[in-house]
Amino acid sequence: MKAMVFDACGGPEKIHLAEVPKPDVGREDVLIQVKACSLNHMDLFVRQGPAEPGAKFPFWGLADVAGVVSEVGAGVDTCRPGDRVIVNPALSCGACEFCRSGEDSLCVDFKILGDEIPGGAAEYLAIPARNITPLPDDFGFEEAAAIPLVFLTAWRALTTQAQLKPGEDVLILGASGGVASAAIQIAKLAGARIFAVTSGTEKAARAQELGADVVLDRNEVDFARETLRLTADRGVDVVLENVGTPTWKQSLQCLARAGRLVTYGRTAGLIGETNIRELFIKQTRIIGTTMGNRREFAEVTRLVFQRRLRPVIDKVYPFEQLRAAHERLEAGAQFGKIVLSVGS
Ligand SMILES: [Zn+2]
Repeated sequence: MKAMVFDACGGPEKIHLAEVPKPDVGREDVLIQVKACSLNHMDLFVRQGPAEPGAKFPFWGLADVAGVVSEVGAGVDTCRPGDRVIVNPALSCGACEFCRSGEDSLCVDFKILGDEIPGGAAEYLAIPARNITPLPDDFGFEEAAAIPLVFLTAWRALTTQAQLKPGEDVLILGASGGVASAAIQIAKLAGARIFAVTSGTEKAARAQELGADVVLDRNEVDFARETLRLTADRGVDVVLENVGTPTWKQSLQCLARAGRLVTYGRTAGLIGETNIRELFIKQTRIIGTTMGNRREFAEVTRLVFQRRLRPVIDKVYPFEQLRAAHERLEAGAQFGKIVLSVGS
C-alpha cells in the first residue's frame, strides 16, 4: 500500500510517498481503507524528533482517521466490510487497573495512533474493532477526520477535568488550534463566558464566530493583564493551556480564586514558572489532561453527529501533499484542522 512516510526525523522535506506492507489484521482488529485523515500538533513533534528509542522507520503519522471497513478479524462481530467509520485514536491495553476502571487515557501502556505506532497517513490502517465508531450517512469523510483527537481532548479537559459550569469564565489559549476551536464550542454549550487568545484580525473574527465572547490579540495586549482588567481583577475560573513556557506564568496570574488551570500540551516549551505563594493563597488547581476515555469519546462524538458541535476545517490537501500540510501547520497559518483526502 501507499503511505506518506519519513525515514528519519527532521524537517518537512523528509516526508515522501512510499510503498509499505499492508498491515496484518489481528483477531480483534478491523482493516480500514482510509478516506481522510487530519493533522495535529503531535505530528510535528513526531516528525521533528528526536526519535523515541526503538523507533522503527519508515514511519507514518496522523492520529485522526475516517474511512470504510474493508476486512474484519475472526473475532469481530460488531461491524462489517463497507461500514463507514471514524477511529478513536486513544489506544489502551484494556487490562491494567486504570483500563479496568474505565480510565483508558490513564492506561500504563497508553498510546496515541501515529505517535509511537504508525498512523493514518496510508491507504490502510489496522485498528482494534473497539476503537471504531459508525459514521452517520450525512457526514463526509473529510469533515469526520477533523473530529476525533481534538474533540476528545477538549471534552475531557473542560467537562471531566475543569468541571466547567454555566456562568463561569474560561480563557482559551491558542484559539486557532484544533483543540481550542473545539473547546470554544464546548465551553459555549456549557454556558460559560469565553475569553479566547489568538493573533490577527482574521483569526479573531473566526474565534468570535465559533462563540468566543472576548478575543484578545496576543500581539496587541498582555492577555493576563487584559483578562484581569475585563473581570475587575477577579480573573477567570478556568484557563485551558497548550502553549507552555511563554504563557504559563500569565495563565496562573489571570486565574480567579479556586481557579483551575488545565494543560493538554506545550507547543512552545516544557518548563513553566509557578509562583507557589500565589498557588496556595488562591487555592489554584493545576490539572493535566490527555485525550480521553471511551465514554467521553461517545459523549462528544454524539454531540458532533447531532451538529451541536462542528468540526472546523482549515484546508484539505490531497494525500500526496502531506509535506505542504506539515509546513502550513508548522507556520501556524491555520485556523482549525488541516485534513488530507486519501485515495479519491
Ligand atoms: Zn491499560
